[in-house]
Amino acid sequence: MTTRQLDGKTALVTGGSRGIGAAIVARLAADGAMVAFTYAHSKEKARAVAAAAGGAYAIRADSMTGGDVEAAIAQTVDRFGSLDILVNNAAVSEFATIGELTMDQIDRMISVNVRSAVVAIRESLLHMGAGGRIINIGSINADRTPYPGQSIYAMTKGAVASLTRGLAHELAARQITVNNIQPGPVDTDANPSDGTWAPKMLAIMASDRYGTAAEVASFVSYLASPDAAYITGSSLNIDGGFTA
Ligand code: NDP
Repeated sequence: MTTRQLDGKTALVTGGSRGIGAAIVARLAADGAMVAFTYAHSKEKARAVAAAAGGAYAIRADSMTGGDVEAAIAQTVDRFGSLDILVNNAAVSEFATIGELTMDQIDRMISVNVRSAVVAIRESLLHMGAGGRIINIGSINADRTPYPGQSIYAMTKGAVASLTRGLAHELAARQITVNNIQPGPVDTDANPSDGTWAPKMLAIMASDRYGTAAEVASFVSYLASPDAAYITGSSLNIDGGFTA
């Protein structure tokens, strides 16, 4: 039987019911990992993702609630006996200017995009051993925020990039890497390639197309692999030349 690069590894992906997260679940499972993932609302889609990934473990856990996130990690470890790879993917984006956004919308972005990642990392580190991988899904908007209406979302993704750099120093002695993938425009429900933002995005990029969720998942797979052991603390762009 062929050996796959993540055979024997265990993974948890937050927000795996749709979009980039669903592609990451599929890819890590195809690479041999045992994969759990969270979702908040899309129960039927989560079921379909779990089945397509050969029986991935779908956990309902709202990233707004720290207790849900902690419970998801505990359930993953109960099910698999370990946790080697954590992918912080769940996020919400509300695109409006700072004055137009309500404080509830702002708090939601900070809670789901930043606080839940901190909670997930703290809890995962209770279980993660040498060779562990923490992979955050940030955004290219942390580095380039070219249009009005992106400031708060970009701020949350900048926080994820800073968190990644600091944690690299805290975790290197444990041989755990932490990295931050920063996608540019990727065709999902959150940012459809035929949506109203698409012409504005394509106008300032080198590439003439949106990326695919599978392309981001392929990058996650590499960072999760033993080959990527010397990459840590990095924010790595997969953006079609959005920052070129
Ligand atoms: P989608 O909106 O298409 O999917 C979001 C996923 O996160 C869903 O599975 C959703 O599950 C889950 N999710 C949302 N809120 C919560 C919550 N409160 N608790 C648990 N899960 C939740 O987003 P994308 O796939 O486009 O984005 C994935 C990641 O990539 C995000 O971090 C995003 O910021 C980043 N990104 C995306 C880009 C793009 O162009 N698409 C560009 C740059 C970064 P459910 O439906 O069950 O709520």
